[in-house]
Amino acid sequence: MIIVTDNHMHLYNHLRLKAVRQFRQAGGTHVLLVSLLSHHYGIFPSSGKDFRKIFDEHIRLVEKANQIARSYAVLSVHPAEITILAKKWGADRAAEIMKEALDIAGEYVADGKAVAIKSGRPHYCVSEYIWRLSNEVMLHAFQVARETGCAVQIHTESYTKEGMDEIARIADKAGLKREKVVKHFSPPQIDEFSEMGLFPSVIAIGENVVKAAKQGTRFVVETDYIDDRERPGSVLGPKTVPRKIKELLNMGFDEDVVMKICKDNIERLYGIELE
Ligand SMILES: [Zn+2]
Repeated sequence: MIIVTDNHMHLYNHLRLKAVRQFRQAGGTHVLLVSLLSHHYGIFPSSGKDFRKIFDEHIRLVEKANQIARSYAVLSVHPAEITILAKKWGADRAAEIMKEALDIAGEYVADGKAVAIKSGRPHYCVSEYIWRLSNEVMLHAFQVARETGCAVQIHTESYTKEGMDEIARIADKAGLKREKVVKHFSPPQIDEFSEMGLFPSVIAIGENVVKAAKQGTRFVVETDYIDDRERPGSVLGPKTVPRKIKELLNMGFDEDVVMKICKDNIERLYGIELE
C-alpha cells in the first residue's frame, strides 16, 4: 500500500471529520492534525494550564479522525497568541503563559497523546520587544522538544535563508537537532533546507511538490487546510496532498520516492511507525 501523509492540517468549523473522509477517499492514509489558536475553542487563557482544555478537546477530535484515516495530534501554542494574550495580560505575562503551555504540550507528547508540538514566531510585523519575547518563547519550545525528544513544527515569517539560519542557530542554542525543526508552509527550497539543516514541510500549492521532488526526497508535504467556514478550501483543500502525490507518480517518480517523503521522513521526524 502506498502511504500518503499530510503533515499539517486543521479541523475547525467547516467540514470537520468530513475533511478527513475526503482526504481518505482521495487516497490519503495518514495525517497530522494541528490544534488551533485558543480563541478557536472559545478559550481566553489566563495561564498555561488553560491550554489543557484546548489540547484535550483537540486530542478527542483526533481520536475520532483516527477512525477514518490514521491521525496524529500536534499541539500548538501559536505564535500569534502573544499579540492576543498581551492585550489582556501584557507582553511579558503573555510569553510566560505560552511557555507554560509549551511545557504542558511536551508532557502530552511524553505521555504519547501527541507526536509533536508547534511554536514559531509572528508572521506579521511586531515591535522589537514582542519579537524578542517571541524568539524566547520559540527557544523554550526547542528546549521542551529536546527534553521530550520530539519534533517542533514552526509557524514563522515567510521563508528567507537568513531567517531560517537564525532559527537554526536558536535550535543549536537549545541543543535541539536542526532536523527536528519542521518549517511549516515551506517553499520547495529543498537544497537550501538540506544545507541549513531545518526540515521543510512543503505547502502543496502549484508546482511545489514536483519542484521539491526534482531536488531530492528530504521534505514532507502539507495542505495547511484550516477548515474555516469563512474561508472554505483555504489554504488548500483536504484532497490536495493525495492528488499531488498521484501527479508525482504519473510523472514517472517511483513509489520509493513517495514512500521516502510520506513514510520514512514522517517516521524519522516524529518517532512513529506508519503502516
Ligand atoms: Zn496551520
